[in-house]
Amino acid sequence: MVLPEQTLQATPTLASCPDCAASLAVLRIIPGRAGAEYWTLRCTDCGGIHLDIVNPPNAPLTA
Ligand SMILES: [Zn+2]
Repeated sequence: MVLPEQTLQATPTLASCPDCAASLAVLRIIPGRAGAEYWTLRCTDCGGIHLDIVNPPNAPLTA
């Protein structure tokens, strides 16, 4: 059995600016609920601020 590569993408994050496709720099990471993290990302080109919620794969699913 070979696991599909999708399993490596359990924590989707913004890899590039949705506006201009430039790279994003992490400004700060704020701990959220249930192990989630709020990533504040700033575009290195247009300077746009983007907030991304990252859920760790081992986070409990129960609310
Ligand atoms: Zn941008």
